[in-house]
Amino acid sequence: MLLAEQRQLLCEHGRRAVETGLVIGTSGNLSVRLGDLVAVTPGGVALDRLEPEACPVVDVEGHLVEGELQPSSETPMHLAVYAATGAGAVVHTHSVFGAVVATTMTELPPIHYNTMLLGGTVRVAEYATYGTSELAANVEAALRDRRAALLANHGGVTIGDDLPQAFEATRLLEWLCEVYVRARAVGEPRVLTEEQLSAVVLRALQTPGFPRRENDRPAELPVPFPDTPT
Ligand SMILES: [Zn+2]
Repeated sequence: MLLAEQRQLLCEHGRRAVETGLVIGTSGNLSVRLGDLVAVTPGGVALDRLEPEACPVVDVEGHLVEGELQPSSETPMHLAVYAATGAGAVVHTHSVFGAVVATTMTELPPIHYNTMLLGGTVRVAEYATYGTSELAANVEAALRDRRAALLANHGGVTIGDDLPQAFEATRLLEWLCEVYVRARAVGEPRVLTEEQLSAVVLRALQTPGFPRRENDRPAELPVPFPDTPT
């Protein structure tokens, strides 16, 4: 079986996505890239009911290479993201607070410094019908120099070097959106200034153990903070 390890990872994280409430029913899709091949969740199957062999493998142009089920309808978006960012994994969900911000805002204002873990202010990609190349292009633009983007009236997407990292980015994106929505219920949230956000990056760079860029690491992918900042 091609990409056996990657397909197993899709099943594990699919289950976690459902268990943690990031996904309901068949909404949401995940993928992992290895070289010129991408393992992706199939369309029409709940993410907590996946089996490795049920996850199709496609090439970077979207041709089915192995598997009996059809790849997720959002596969064009995943492939466009890989082509543009050099990421190793993509996670897309319709999580509740992400969807709330994506239906009302043009960006998620940086009111918490952990926004910088996603590369900065999270943009909302312009609306386009799901599964279209237009949506893929809009998402690609919104993801420039970021690890996350929201999709207008739809949901969110995150990237990582691997699936655990992309999945954690989705959890963080949802947390940031929830904090924003709840803060708005209390008062007008203070938005961090460019200066304050730059200081966060500087501070992280001075932290011992901060991960350096590897030679083979795509320059477009922002480097995350070491572990959990205090
Ligand atoms: Zn979707």
